[in-house]
Amino acid sequence: MCSQPTPSRTGLLLSGGLDSCILLGDLVRRGCRVLPIYVDCGLIWQKAELHWLRRFLQALDSKGVEPLVCLEMPLSDVYRDHWSLTGDGVPDADSPDSAVYLPGRNALLLVKAALCCRREGIDDLALGVLGTSPFADAKPGFFSPFAAAMNAALDANLRIHAPFAGATKQEIMLLGRDLPLKWTFSCIAPLQELHCGRCNKCLERQRAFQQIGLEDPTEYASDHLLA
Ligand SMILES: [Zn+2]
Repeated sequence: MCSQPTPSRTGLLLSGGLDSCILLGDLVRRGCRVLPIYVDCGLIWQKAELHWLRRFLQALDSKGVEPLVCLEMPLSDVYRDHWSLTGDGVPDADSPDSAVYLPGRNALLLVKAALCCRREGIDDLALGVLGTSPFADAKPGFFSPFAAAMNAALDANLRIHAPFAGATKQEIMLLGRDLPLKWTFSCIAPLQELHCGRCNKCLERQRAFQQIGLEDPTEYASDHLLA
């Protein structure tokens, strides 16, 4: 992926969170030309998420990043009364990480992103899942057969890359500490466009900055949980 001096184009599933934004910064640093792909599933935090993602891309200001592609994939028909659509029972800071599971998330996003890459003539598609993710569709064993199925379906040569699959949050935070992380977004219960400071993902974000001794630049709507 991205060999110099003729860097190939790489698709990147970008959510605007710390992990995928750090992966974007890392790919650009390694000479990739990146097509950032955002998939809007209509989840309650996505309006705020997309706002901050555009702000992050502006701050990154890299010639290696192509204009953001926004794809739509409404899930209200299958997710129905799931908390990610209703906002009822959003996992708070006391919830286990497994509580933030979004059914089929990576499979759904990858189908749409793979089609986008196929139409763009891109053979490499990356995503920023971590090795510590507890979810089955974030495990290394998922991506290879999934790529094979997509290639069979699309008559394509797509390769799916999860370069952070062996990494911890702390390791990728160290990798990305010089990026404009202030403009990344992690919250699943935002107030207007602000991080709520109370949900499972806000706590994870606060811990991520704390783990590497970096001051958390985020503006939260409530007091810092770790203060
Ligand atoms: Zn939050």
